[in-house]
Amino acid sequence: MINVTKTYLPPFDKYSDYVRKIFNSGIVTNNGEMVRKLKKSLEEYLGVKNIVLVQNGTLALQIAYKILNLKKDIVTTPFSFVATTSSQVWEGLNPVFVDIDKKSLNIDTKLIEKNITKRTSAIVPVHVFGNSCNIEEIDKLAKRYNLKVIYDAAHTFGVKYKDKNILSYGDISIISFHATKIFHTIEGGALVINDDKLYEKAILSRNFGIESADSIKDLGINAKMNEFEAAMGLCLLDDIDKIFERRKKVYENYMNYIKGDIYFQSRSRDCTCNYGYFPIIFKNENILKRVMKELINEGVRPRRYFYPCLNDLSYIKDYRKVPVAQDISKRILCLPLYDSLNITEQNKIINIVNSVLNLGDKCE
Ligand SMILES: *Cc1c(COP(=O)(O)O)cnc(C)c1O
Repeated sequence: MINVTKTYLPPFDKYSDYVRKIFNSGIVTNNGEMVRKLKKSLEEYLGVKNIVLVQNGTLALQIAYKILNLKKDIVTTPFSFVATTSSQVWEGLNPVFVDIDKKSLNIDTKLIEKNITKRTSAIVPVHVFGNSCNIEEIDKLAKRYNLKVIYDAAHTFGVKYKDKNILSYGDISIISFHATKIFHTIEGGALVINDDKLYEKAILSRNFGIESADSIKDLGINAKMNEFEAAMGLCLLDDIDKIFERRKKVYENYMNYIKGDIYFQSRSRDCTCNYGYFPIIFKNENILKRVMKELINEGVRPRRYFYPCLNDLSYIKDYRKVPVAQDISKRILCLPLYDSLNITEQNKIINIVNSVLNLGDKCE
């Protein structure tokens, strides 16, 4: 079975050396040595400051909304993983969906302004598949209307935007380190916060607001990453450049050989590509279903990222017209992409897709 992704696992002995260290120290959580080390290593590797490691990307979003004291309406995208929206509803906020641009697949910057009202407190865009949003425009709008900006940058591990890591933009950027993402800590995530005071607030928030043994300074939640997870991250970080290299090869092989009446996401020239996903946009949903059926018959499981459109969630009360997102979500499919997908498997996938599209040469 070839799934859409396969979790990278480090050499067992390497991870077990870390586990032995954890056992020897007896410290398994609460900002132990591994978590502190991973934070520092990630700040160095990514070139950002103020990383707050947490238990997952969803909690990172929730903490971001909370510490920025967001209220009422959030201008956001309907084309994302469900957590972007569910985290807002969970925090009592109202997602206001703005349609996406059909090429970049990100929130359509031109449509943001007319959806801003007195009730709006923030913009929550997503760098979909690691492709940067129109950061300058969003920044300008946020300043003009005094709104906060939180980037759901879950897909952006290692992506640079104009020579700075993409996580350094917005009031807060969040990232996910879930096992399905390029860099993972089994379960995990992080906030990256420019403002030092806000950073301190996030550090307190992830641990019940506890400041010291006898002082609880503020309202908090439990969102701490544990030592075993951080150890996984430390192992991954050693191998990450190799992982990128191998992913790049798969991505380029697909890009060079998949041919037909399809199109790909247009990626911004201002950002680098981390080869996280390989989405294909078909002419219509019928063709997508035929491609899926053929792939599944041959033991390949692609995923319909992102389907359904988040506007269609049962708990969305504020229904907006988002025709582009509705349309794209019906006809976009992500092919398997991971470091250990071998050339035979890649070619098998390419040939199946091309055979349905009736075009392209057969890969041997
Ligand atoms: C994975 C993901 C999340 C959630 O992250 P978890 O670590 O799984 O909680 C949020 N937003 C997007 C766009 C994601 O892909």
